[in-house]
Amino acid sequence: MSVYLDHNATTAPAPEAVAAMLHALEVAWANPSSTHEPGQQARRLLAEARSRVATFLGCQPSELVFTSGATEANHTAVHAALAATRGIGRQRLVLSSVEHPGLMALAARLEAEGVPVTRLPVDADGRVDLAAAREAIGADVALVSVMGANNETGVLMPVAELAELAHAAGARMHVDATQLAGKAALDFAALGADLMSVSAHKLHGPKGVGALVVRKGFALAPLLAGRQERHRRGGTENLPGIAGFAAACDRAAATPAADIERIAALRDRLEASCATLPGVQVYGRRVARVANTCCLRFGTLDAELVLGRLERADVVASSGAACAAGGTQPSHVLLAMGEPSAHARAALRFSLGRDSTDAHVQQALAAVHAAVAPLLQDAVAAACP
Ligand code: PMP
Repeated sequence: MSVYLDHNATTAPAPEAVAAMLHALEVAWANPSSTHEPGQQARRLLAEARSRVATFLGCQPSELVFTSGATEANHTAVHAALAATRGIGRQRLVLSSVEHPGLMALAARLEAEGVPVTRLPVDADGRVDLAAAREAIGADVALVSVMGANNETGVLMPVAELAELAHAAGARMHVDATQLAGKAALDFAALGADLMSVSAHKLHGPKGVGALVVRKGFALAPLLAGRQERHRRGGTENLPGIAGFAAACDRAAATPAADIERIAALRDRLEASCATLPGVQVYGRRVARVANTCCLRFGTLDAELVLGRLERADVVASSGAACAAGGTQPSHVLLAMGEPSAHARAALRFSLGRDSTDAHVQQALAAVHAAVAPLLQDAVAAACP
């Protein structure tokens, strides 16, 4: 098995999550909406899982709407916020220019349909520009949507300040906390947001399940109509997925803070050693970041070339968002940070996780120094003949 340094793309399901899923499949396979006893048994399991996920996220069980993942949660949040203020002159969507590709695509689609959209710039470290936010968030704004931590750089966004600006203008605040959950303390009640998205597969749960947290009192219009989830998300509940999600939350909650520090130390060691090579630039290093993420470029070596070299040495990482990997598009996050296209194309991401070890970092560094450093030296020599 190769050294896996792509935990921001997805994580391996924890054994506890797999066991909980199997249990739900085998024992609680009935429809939780059925009134007979097997249905009620499934319903009890659903309620119990809901309460555990809610505890982990710092919200009430009734504030939790299970979805198929963070993409659906993000789309639901945006559509519901716009629907809630339709007809009262409040239709603008404000988001950062470094959001997840799924949300960027939704914003582009809505804009083409006539919804005014403002994309907030970020500074050179990838943090949302608060002065621009102050200017943009006015009385016509329905929703301000920003990620808690960026998936490519790990940089933390000024969520509390943006929530304050949104609320002062009478707008709602949505936080895509997909890259925060399991990596940093996450407490919906303290976040100041009205809506929050999470995804189970980023914290060692299964894929295809996540949640939108909806602050009490907001009558959320569903994206998928139906009676489930208190009429906020139609469709028979993905009980095995939800059970696996709850087990992953329990496990993340039980993880000592020392493990986050251990991961940060591994990341810092990886980063510091890479940074000794000529032309290496690390992104987001000067500001607060989640502990596991390292975004850097090796000069202007194409990220795909570097990743290929690393993979041949059994080390897997990623260039930018996984959804864009393999494509030739430069990272929109790096472009928004003011980087030229040649740099954005060179950016790659190492993201560590709970299963990362000292030996993994050692192997990754050996690969970098053996397989990537010579390319860099050639590039430097070619630039200064
Ligand atoms: N938002 C962010 C910040 C993400 O990193 C991801 C996963 N790449 C998503 C949303 C989408 O999550 P899901 O795969 O659950 O739809």
